[in-house]
Amino acid sequence: MSAYAVGFARPDRRSWAQPVDQPMSWHAVEAHRPVDELDGEVELAVCGAIVQVWGNQDWERVSAGRSSCAECVRRTAPALRHAG
Ligand SMILES: [Zn+2]
Repeated sequence: MSAYAVGFARPDRRSWAQPVDQPMSWHAVEAHRPVDELDGEVELAVCGAIVQVWGNQDWERVSAGRSSCAECVRRTAPALRHAG
């Protein structure tokens, strides 16, 4: 299972790993549990940022957008390529 949940970097939980000037940032969170269960949880993103899981978002779709975390996109790209 190589599923990723989508995490949102909340301004009030800004991580040391994230630059301050990224107010809209989607991150990939390794889904060690069903995404439904992770919804709303605060998790560690693939890139090391602290994010809140946004359960109704699909990382495969979000990662193609412009407001996604470049580091997370890079790290999850191989897994997404092999999936499906
Ligand atoms: Zn990230």
